[in-house]
Amino acid sequence: MNNDILKSDLTYLKGVGPKRANVLAAELGIRNYEQMLSYFPFRYIDRTQFHKISDIQINETAVQLSGKIISIETLGKGRALRLSAVLQDETGSMELVWFRGIKWIKTKLVINKEYLVYGKPSKFGNKFNITHPEIDIVQEDIKLSSKLQAVYNSTEKLSKAGLTGKGIGYVFNTLLPQVSAVITENLNTDIVEKYGFISHKEAIEKIHQPINYSDIQKASNRLKYEEFFFIQLSLIEQNLIRKEQIPGIYFGVIGDKFNGFFNNNLPFTLTDAQKKVIKEIRNDFSTGKQMNRLLQGDVGSGKTLVALMTMLIANDNGYQATLMAPTEILAQQHFVSISKFLEGLNVNVELLTGSTKAANRRKLHADLESGLIDILIGTHALIEDKVKFNNLGYVVIDEQHRFGVQQRAKLWSKGKYIPHILVMTATPIPRTMAMTIYGDLDYSVIDELPPGRKPIQTYHYSDAKRIALFGFMKKQIALGRQVYIVYPLINESETLDLKDLQDGYESISRGFPKPEYQISVVHGKMKAKDKDIEMQRFKRGETNIMVATTVIEVGVDVANATIMVIENAERFGLSQLHQLRGRVGRGAEQSYCILMSSYKLSNEASMRLETMVRTNDGFEIAEADLKLRGPGDMEGTQQSGVLDLHIADIVKDEAILKQARVDALELLEKDPKLEFPANELLKIYYLKTKAAKTNWGRIS
Ligand code: ADP
Ligand code: MG
Repeated sequence: MNNDILKSDLTYLKGVGPKRANVLAAELGIRNYEQMLSYFPFRYIDRTQFHKISDIQINETAVQLSGKIISIETLGKGRALRLSAVLQDETGSMELVWFRGIKWIKTKLVINKEYLVYGKPSKFGNKFNITHPEIDIVQEDIKLSSKLQAVYNSTEKLSKAGLTGKGIGYVFNTLLPQVSAVITENLNTDIVEKYGFISHKEAIEKIHQPINYSDIQKASNRLKYEEFFFIQLSLIEQNLIRKEQIPGIYFGVIGDKFNGFFNNNLPFTLTDAQKKVIKEIRNDFSTGKQMNRLLQGDVGSGKTLVALMTMLIANDNGYQATLMAPTEILAQQHFVSISKFLEGLNVNVELLTGSTKAANRRKLHADLESGLIDILIGTHALIEDKVKFNNLGYVVIDEQHRFGVQQRAKLWSKGKYIPHILVMTATPIPRTMAMTIYGDLDYSVIDELPPGRKPIQTYHYSDAKRIALFGFMKKQIALGRQVYIVYPLINESETLDLKDLQDGYESISRGFPKPEYQISVVHGKMKAKDKDIEMQRFKRGETNIMVATTVIEVGVDVANATIMVIENAERFGLSQLHQLRGRVGRGAEQSYCILMSSYKLSNEASMRLETMVRTNDGFEIAEADLKLRGPGDMEGTQQSGVLDLHIADIVKDEAILKQARVDALELLEKDPKLEFPANELLKIYYLKTKAAKTNWGRIS
């Protein structure tokens, strides 16, 4: 069969032509028939469902009306300049208003002509109006067998070229009949039958020109599945190829270092989840393949210990290991706690960060190269070109989303072999998102906290409660506990933020006067050394209150701190709030998190704060975050591009995603090179989509 027609330039399609083709290419990147076919509508209009003007209700989200324009006039001046038209149907009339694009709209509106109008009504006095409605001339030339009309995302330039949200749909009147004979199947019969899918060709036809609601349902189910399936196929294939092609260092020995730690130094019993993950990693170490594993676990679930114990396995096998942290404070903290864990054992741990002194640094470099150092802990300074290991075998990356892909890739060149890699996340991300963004990694999760932790109690206060808050803080301090007070830091205006912090500090100093109370301050503008001095004072219990910007966000571990006050909490994202809250509740005492905010909050902000008050579960919070903000805005997703989905939605279509992943895995297990005749069409389509999308974020 000849597929070439699908590659035809849209210029040659009747009803498009050179001018519109140019706009489609410039605005949407759509150049040929095939690309046009995968430009899917985002909603449908039921052309039999019209509202009457007199029936419009106050809480209607959007209405479709049909009527005549009976007057058009330009009103107001300057910023208030607007175009006002009156629409009339047999039950009444209402105003349509435009503030932008007035000139162009005017050319479209003709008195006494019939229009279809769609938009969200709002009440003005006792009449309704619609601002910036979608408006179309009633056309009779759309497929009349259907009452449903597809609506596409359009732009101003497209609209001006006649390709409005609905206008784009007319392209398919000529396109579909020409190509339908060459749209081939792209899944195998097993999958199609398993789900009772309609064919790929039918799905494409029905998504653009459905006859009824069931068509839309069937078409979108199938197309969503396809989209997830081919992404998963590619991610899983990358993982399998890597395993096949990249030899891993074999760590077969559990020796003195691991055993010495386990038998003599481990101060508590591991949780079952920690044991399970250590086992998974040990298993990877002995397959002879390179490990690429993602470890998710809530704040405080004990990921560091897993990192440490598996690093000791690397050491036992004669290899060096390194732990990379995103901030200096966190690296130092890891260094301190890991050194303490290893006291008395024959394991040489060193710290390398941006502020390591030159002389010291030279010695570190030399010791690293000669193999004297077993475990190197550090920040980005670790991946500088000068840093050379003797035999690096294992890399742990803590809080990964702060490391760029390139930075990670640099680690490859650090040893003679490609090291095993464990990526630990700072905050849980929803499983569906992990599947998509990190779908090419193996996945471990720590889903339980060490025993004996008391759930942190979280409250949301407005400023009116500040006096009560100070009273509560004093009570806790009298019991010997410590308090964090955190101010937001937003890059755009560090000086302003600093002022917030300084004002806050002054008011706290008045409320908590010396010498009875001691206060530490830490913020991003301070030198690393000064920050450290302040942190240490707080850690040693010499100060009662730590006033800080978000520099303390990750990892800071002071078990005696029981209150986390977050100022302007509405300015923080959910994952940040959760991270901050995780700084308390680390000891045996009951801990508290107080979210301070102004009285007036946006809907989204109050949802965030409600979520924080409701739950301590990082995975639940991540799900809520995903629902609130959508996948595009989640931390760590920007570089990925995998979430650039045409039709599927990782929040709403979670079930389809999971199924598609299972199926893709099963398929590649049975037919890793897609050589079975039954998979021929699937393979052709897969190679085509792969060629179209190449630069996905990769871990290593
Ligand atoms: P995170 O997963 O947030 O990095 P950490 O590794 O910092 O968590 O662990 C949080 C705290 O819990 C640390 O003080 C750590 O020593 C302690 N911890 C880790 N594992 C256990 C355990 N199995 N039992 C008790 N405490 C533990
Ligand atoms: Mg940690």
